[in-house]
Amino acid sequence: MSKTSTDGVPRHAPAPLRHSLNGETMGTRYSVVFYGPEDLRTECLARSLFAAVDRVDRQMSTWKVESDLNRLNSAPVGEWVAVPEELMTVLAEALRIGRLSNGAFDIGIGALVNAWGFGPECRHPDAARIAAASETPRATAADSLLLDRPGGRVRKFAPLSLDLSAIAKGFGVDEMARIMDEFRLNAWLIGIDGEMRARGVKPDGSFWAVAHERPDRHARDAMGVIELADMAVATSGNYRRWLETGNGIVSHTIEPSRGAPLVNGVASVSVITPTCMSADAWATALLVSGIERGLALARSAALEAIFVMEDGTVTSTL
Ligand code: AMP
Ligand code: MG
Repeated sequence: MSKTSTDGVPRHAPAPLRHSLNGETMGTRYSVVFYGPEDLRTECLARSLFAAVDRVDRQMSTWKVESDLNRLNSAPVGEWVAVPEELMTVLAEALRIGRLSNGAFDIGIGALVNAWGFGPECRHPDAARIAAASETPRATAADSLLLDRPGGRVRKFAPLSLDLSAIAKGFGVDEMARIMDEFRLNAWLIGIDGEMRARGVKPDGSFWAVAHERPDRHARDAMGVIELADMAVATSGNYRRWLETGNGIVSHTIEPSRGAPLVNGVASVSVITPTCMSADAWATALLVSGIERGLALARSAALEAIFVMEDGTVTSTL
């Protein structure tokens, strides 16, 4: 029997190759980095990823006139409206985090977002709309929205303008994650804008690194790195979207209890959770809650959260 010099030596699979894909959705960009076989055909993956984020956008955007969300917004009070499964999932999670955050997270703030110049309807604060949208008592999503999950339908009890901008991007990332898993990819970092989710680690064993942005309105800079493996991270703050008016800076985050843009000294909050939908919504909820109530809430909900104050102080629950 002959024996060659390679007999008994395990054959090594070729090292996985780094691939990247990106595109546009929800008025911003999505990006995907992953390791996979060198000969992997990425066209089908790219198509599936786009279809997944585009479906979320078409269902949940307030900027698309024909979205399912806008259909629900313009439906008469009291009428049942059929909604697709994904939208139902997001509405249910939004109401859950709304309850847990004692109303700091409220998707019923759509009219206020528009009135202050951050929605699709106007680009500047509009005094008449602000007065109309701030009339008390204001209908909240918690009080005025009923979900019939088994029946796939939703009903409003008051005129309500719903806005899912603080949670839909995170859900879009989770939908991309589902596609990556379906393609049996197990080492990836994906994101829409700054909302990110990772699976596994890189082939060299290192974690995925996401920049922790310095909340600076005038420069893009990282103040640290958040390392992820099988987790998602989302950051909310008022350093990317804001308006300068005669009365100072107006934040795009609404404080539902005051019915006005947020002013509380917190510059940004990052939350790390297994799903990006929940990270996205919690980041907004904790930002609105402020440092004291936000930290207490994060601890009671066992959330990993990092608060950066406008004076640069950093506090985390880690
Ligand atoms: P994010 O960047 O995820 O914090 O989302 C901010 C966006 O969510 C804003 O531009 C509004 O459209 C919407 N929003 C503002 N305030 C709230 C709030 N208190 N609860 C839920 N959504 C909000
Ligand atoms: Mg958010």
